Amino acid sequence: MVECRYCGEQISTESDDATDPDYLDHIAEEHIHDLSDIDEKKLRREWDGSVKEAKSPDYRFSAAQLGAATTIIVLFLGFFFVGYIM
Ligand SMILES: [Zn+2]
Repeated sequence: MVECRYCGEQISTESDDATDPDYLDHIAEEHIHDLSDIDEKKLRREWDGSVKEAKSPDYRFSAAQLGAATTIIVLFLGFFFVGYIM
């Protein structure tokens, strides 16, 4: 059992240290954007350097896409509405 240093959750792990793969999986899944340098190094060792890929901003990218799509819809509806009342 290891207590997560980011959210305080008790992670069930085989060993009691913070290099346990189950714990590293948890911080990678839940806290990848908040990791300290030390934890990132641990992950890099565990994952053989693929931390950068895990950190790649897929989710930020889709958030940006969603924002752009919303803007376009709002603009479109705005033009439509203005055209309707004129
Ligand atoms: Zn956590």
